[in-house]
Amino acid sequence: MHNVVVLGSRFGGSATAYWLSKLFERREITVTIVDQWTLMTYRPALVRVAAGHPAQADNWHIPMVRRYQRAGFRFIRDTAYQIDPRAQKIHLATHPPLPYDTVFVATGADPAWEAIDGLGPHHGGVCEDYLARQTAYALSKTAGPIVVGVGPLYYSGSPVRLRASLDVPALEVAFLLDAWLSKHRRRQDIPITVITPACVPGESLGPKSQAILTRELERRQIQLIAESKVEQVGDSHITLYPQRVIKADQMIWIPPYHGSQLARRSGLDDGWGWIPTDKYCRHEKWSNVYAVGDINRSALPKLGHIAMLQAKVAVHALWAAMHHKSAQPFTPFVLHVIWTGHGRGLFTLSDILYGGKRDWVYFGAPASLAKTAFNASYRFFSGWMPIMP
Ligand SMILES: Cc1cc2nc3c(=O)[nH]c(=O)nc-3n(C[C@H](O)[C@H](O)[C@H](O)COP(=O)(O)OP(=O)(O)OC[C@H]3O[C@@H](n4cnc5c(N)ncnc54)[C@H](O)[C@@H]3O)c2cc1C
Repeated sequence: MHNVVVLGSRFGGSATAYWLSKLFERREITVTIVDQWTLMTYRPALVRVAAGHPAQADNWHIPMVRRYQRAGFRFIRDTAYQIDPRAQKIHLATHPPLPYDTVFVATGADPAWEAIDGLGPHHGGVCEDYLARQTAYALSKTAGPIVVGVGPLYYSGSPVRLRASLDVPALEVAFLLDAWLSKHRRRQDIPITVITPACVPGESLGPKSQAILTRELERRQIQLIAESKVEQVGDSHITLYPQRVIKADQMIWIPPYHGSQLARRSGLDDGWGWIPTDKYCRHEKWSNVYAVGDINRSALPKLGHIAMLQAKVAVHALWAAMHHKSAQPFTPFVLHVIWTGHGRGLFTLSDILYGGKRDWVYFGAPASLAKTAFNASYRFFSGWMPIMP
């Protein structure tokens, strides 16, 4: 039997396991999934948590293991320390080395707080549940300016140009905060500023969404400082190049991203911490190593939807290779909804970022409802939904 290991169990790893269970007969493969957590923290819901709803953090821990076990897969709770592609083994922190015939790496990107002088998780954030919860509690006491900061994305070697690690959740937090503070009659005293290295809000979305976001930020008096270069972050200020100081009573950060330590340590990265793959998400050098989701160099922007698309492409590619068939390459497009508060949302389906012409946008209540429904469905089905993207 072909021995498959999946590292990581959020958007990318879970979707990989789903497609393995759909495409292969049980007698063809054994599957082991490794993650340091048995529960998935569902990050798209954390923007609401940070914006005034700390108690909701615990609603978004999704149990993943039951699904795997029902499919006949094994789950190991551990941390992968190193992948040895020559020996085809994964070194785990507390279990014996795990051999593989094929490995899917879906362990995501590491935050690079240290890339900005003075910046750390203590400044506030939204990318993990504990950060979103603590930030929300701090915000409930904030009486002065709030800054939502976005760090840079460090990468190279892709025709797709993005400057921000991920600006869409930052904009989402700013809109939701604006709505929440307005509801509690505190907004008039609390300025909100978004600082991003991107040139436009929603840099990965198409021009129509960018225009709507720009208009909406202006209308709601949320200041946008685009193309920012953050030099230093202190307890209650941010210094921008050249010589501009922004005051902040509370900050919320999407940190810089600089690839993955696991990929670097394993010698599988491109020199920037990302795994370089062909259009089937297969490592450029090691054909039995696939990379799925944020850790993949070609996963741009770093979105759960892209991770799910890549999982589908990668598993179909393995299936095709084992059955002497041809596979479909990764053809990216951005499918995203930003909650903008007051029951509205901005839906985008666009491939403009990749040189395409599609740019479908809808701004209104149904878009917000669609995102709420998707999140609820993801939680209910533990990521293995009846219709997968
Ligand atoms: C606040 C926020 C809101 C977002 N909202 C959206 C949204 O609305 N829509 C959208 O499409 N995307 C959204 N995203 C992006 C999305 O969350 C990511 O793109 C997605 O989580 C990437 O999935 P992944 O599986 O590649 O990696 P990750 O989500 O990072 O998962 C990696 C998994 O691997 C595990 N892991 C890591 N290292 C190891 C190791 N060494 N050993 C074992 N296990 C390990 C981790 O525990 C984790 O479970 C948002 C991101 C943030 C931060």
